[in-house]
Amino acid sequence: MMDSFYKPTVTRYKILCEAKAFPSDQYAFTSQALAHGLDPATAIIEISPREGEFTLREEDILETIDKEGDSIALVIFSGIQYYTGQWFPIESITKKAHEKGCICGWDLAHAVGNVPLSLHAWNVDFAVWCTYKYVNSGPGGIAGLFIHEKWHETEKPKFAGWWGHELATRFNMPPTFSPIKGAQGFQQSNPSAGMMKSVRKRSLLLTSALEKMLKASKYFVPQSEAREKGTAKPGFTIITPSDPLQRGAQLSLLFFPLGSETMRTVFAYLTANGVIGDEREPDVIRLAPAPLYNTLKDCEHAAEVLGKALESVA
Ligand SMILES: *Cc1c(COP(=O)(O)O)cnc(C)c1O
Repeated sequence: MMDSFYKPTVTRYKILCEAKAFPSDQYAFTSQALAHGLDPATAIIEISPREGEFTLREEDILETIDKEGDSIALVIFSGIQYYTGQWFPIESITKKAHEKGCICGWDLAHAVGNVPLSLHAWNVDFAVWCTYKYVNSGPGGIAGLFIHEKWHETEKPKFAGWWGHELATRFNMPPTFSPIKGAQGFQQSNPSAGMMKSVRKRSLLLTSALEKMLKASKYFVPQSEAREKGTAKPGFTIITPSDPLQRGAQLSLLFFPLGSETMRTVFAYLTANGVIGDEREPDVIRLAPAPLYNTLKDCEHAAEVLGKALESVA
C-alpha cells in the first residue's frame, strides 16, 4: 500500500507513526524512505508516550499532526498496538490527518476480528491486515486490504500482478495490465487456494495410517462381526467406509457394548490425554486427523490412548 500511497514531495515527505511499531512496519517505513532517496532519521516521525507513561495520549497524536502535518505525507499507525494493546482512535486520527492534507493508512493486524471497525465511515484511506491473529486463520492464512472508495477511480496499483487484472479478461493473459477497481486490483497473486491436492494427499496418508493402527487394536471388531448388535465385551468398530474414495479425513468409531458407558468413558479418557475428537451420543466418537496440522505421531498417540482407554473399561 505504501508503494501506491506514499508519494513524498520536496515539502511533504514525512511518515508519522507510533514509536516501537511492529518491526515489520518499522522496516517498511525505513525502507520506503530509503527507496525514495530520503533519510529515515528525518523522514520518519515517531510519537512516544510521555515520560512515565506506557501508552500514547490522543491529544498528543493530534497535536503532532497539527504541528507537523504540512510536511507529513503519510500518517500510519497500527489500529491496536501489538505490544501495549492500545486501541488508537482511528476515526479522530484519520480526520485530523485529512485536515492537514495527509494520507492516513492503518495496519490492522491486531485489530481485525478483535474490535469493531468501520473503515469506510471513518474515511480511512487504506488499511492492511493479516488473518492469523484474531481471525484465527493459522499459518499461511491470507491477508486483507482496504482501499477507500474515494480512491477507486484515481488510485491504481503501482506494482501490478496478474490477480489484480479485471476478471473478464484475466484468463486471456493479455500483455497489458488493466486493474479491477479498488482493493481487488491490488492483489498480486492467486491467494493460497488450489492446495486441495496436496492437502488430500496428506489426508489420505494420515487417515489410512490411523485406520490401520486402530484395526490392529485387540479391541477392534470387524464390521462383519459387529453388525447391528455389536459385542458384549468392550470394543469398537469403524463405521466409516474403508474405501478412501468414499470418505474424507474422518473415522467414526462405534463403541460396544451398545448403550453402555463405554463411549463416554473412552471419550473422557481421550480428552484428558490430549486427543480431541467429537462424541455423538450414544456410542460414536469421531476422530479426524486434520491434514493441515496433524502428524503421524498424533495418529499413533490417538491409537495408543484409545487402547489404554478401553483397557480401563475392560
Ligand atoms: C502481527 C503484526 C504484523 C505482522 O503481520 P504479517 O502479516 O505477519 O506481516 C504487522 N503489524 C502489526 C501491528 C502486527 O501486530
